[in-house]
Amino acid sequence: MKRFWQFLGVFLVVLVIVLIANTLRFTRLQPEVTPAADVALDEAALVRHLSGGLAIQTVSYQDSARFDSTAFNRFHRYLETVYPEIFDRLESERVNDYSLLLKWQGKQSELKPVLLMAHMDVVPVDPRTRSQWQQPPFSGAVADGFIWGRGAIDDKASLFGILDAVQFLLNQGFQPERTIYLAFGHDEELGGNRGARRIAERLARRGIKFDWVLDEGGARTGGLMPGVQSDVAMVGVAEKGYVSVELLVEGTGGHSSMPPLETPVGILCKAIAALEEHQMPAELMPPVNQMFRYLGPEMPFGMKLVMANLWLFQGLLTTQLSQSPTTNALIRTTTAPTMLEGSIKDNVLPARARGVVNFRIRPGDSVESVIQHIRKTVQDDRVNIRVLGTGRNPSPVSDVRAPQFQWLVRVIREVFPGTLVAPSLVVGGTDAKHFTELSPNVYRFIPVKLTPDDLHRFHGINERISIQNYIDMVKFYVHLLRKAA
Ligand SMILES: [Zn+2]
Repeated sequence: MKRFWQFLGVFLVVLVIVLIANTLRFTRLQPEVTPAADVALDEAALVRHLSGGLAIQTVSYQDSARFDSTAFNRFHRYLETVYPEIFDRLESERVNDYSLLLKWQGKQSELKPVLLMAHMDVVPVDPRTRSQWQQPPFSGAVADGFIWGRGAIDDKASLFGILDAVQFLLNQGFQPERTIYLAFGHDEELGGNRGARRIAERLARRGIKFDWVLDEGGARTGGLMPGVQSDVAMVGVAEKGYVSVELLVEGTGGHSSMPPLETPVGILCKAIAALEEHQMPAELMPPVNQMFRYLGPEMPFGMKLVMANLWLFQGLLTTQLSQSPTTNALIRTTTAPTMLEGSIKDNVLPARARGVVNFRIRPGDSVESVIQHIRKTVQDDRVNIRVLGTGRNPSPVSDVRAPQFQWLVRVIREVFPGTLVAPSLVVGGTDAKHFTELSPNVYRFIPVKLTPDDLHRFHGINERISIQNYIDMVKFYVHLLRKAA
């Protein structure tokens, strides 16, 4: 017995030494940089440009019959009017009528070009919430230090920010060494198949490969990461996949006064409940474990010790992350039942009950593994399982050790001193998914600063961006383009 306690004592001492040694070796990955020189911008003009763009209703409706070609044509004309130098000096072409591709020829054509992306469409405004907007959603109002309107964050600030930066550089007589492409899709909110995907196909036919690609996805956030005081710039190096699956149970229907013991609705609900109860497994893998590698050293000692010893604490951490929907979405393929259909009348048994479950697939899983999981979990032949559409696997994960990523980390810190940069996983979809064949280095980040309060605003009500925030975005793009070129 005494030997046992001796052994246990030695074991614990060794364990503590290992944990602390790992923590001390867990060094910072944030590079020290010299802050970028400030640029003098015509701030009033920048505000006007974005404000005018927000007033044009380039809405993507689920129902394609509602597509308003006039609005998109007006948006193109607006860009040509506001940025005459750009349309004069860059090669521009429309793709599939409403998307826009611009090329700024560099002096050295042997250098690989780079691509900046944004989208010109916005989600609709729910008419029932219109009265809750402090400023009308398509007014582009400038009030209280903010520019208001649908698209102010997602994603016109990025589109106008890029164009304002290019126009500023053109006016300075700047000419890039490296060719710069700009791609603006017109249906990102519907998946980008008519816009960004067509642009990517056109570029692929021309044999163009990019050194890196930058689209929306991550942002600068404050107060969102527990234990981290500084702002964190989240750079999406991958995005989740997507599949919606229909569950269909057929019966004979009939009068509800003589129901069978099990009805289609009951069978369907059991299947959906089983899927909710048996979630797909959580795992810390790239890029989410890399995010903790970047942020861990910035955390207080206790949390840092956990992050530095994931070989031991991985289970503890994943349990913790599973507790909140935002962090749970980072570590597993999520299960979201979204649609239910049954009978059309209260006293009629349905001939069929139908449910739809939407899965967002993390790297490591696939459409195929989701289907296998559903079959294994439901285990009921009466439930017909069918994939709606084609589904999409998660994107490849861009390598954070690549010099291009390391370079982007520096550029962000040069413009936003003190901001921590971390790779991350984008849980929604972006147009960047169409470009993964054209570059191994696809990044999803817009330099907007978001507070926890802002997270409800885009796709929600009172979407807005502060004037200062927008000016800072333009400064970022100016610096990025100078350094990239
Ligand atoms: Zn967007």
